[in-house]
Amino acid sequence: MTCARCDGLVVNIPPLVLLCSNDYQFTQSDDVEGEAWQCLNCGNYIDAVILANRLSPPQPSLEQEAAVLAGGR
Ligand SMILES: [Zn+2]
Repeated sequence: MTCARCDGLVVNIPPLVLLCSNDYQFTQSDDVEGEAWQCLNCGNYIDAVILANRLSPPQPSLEQEAAVLAGGR
């Protein structure tokens, strides 16, 4: 997987929600929601929510997505 912004290497990282709860039980049903990635080059953060919004936006809002991407810097 490569970064959409800079083509850098994107690695799988523990989602922020897991980092915030030590006793979180990781189950298979959480597999999709628990996925998160970060670009090693520019630090762009991607998680399942962002990916889902890209594939099927609840409402067309390119400005909102751009704001999210800009905020990851
Ligand atoms: Zn990047």
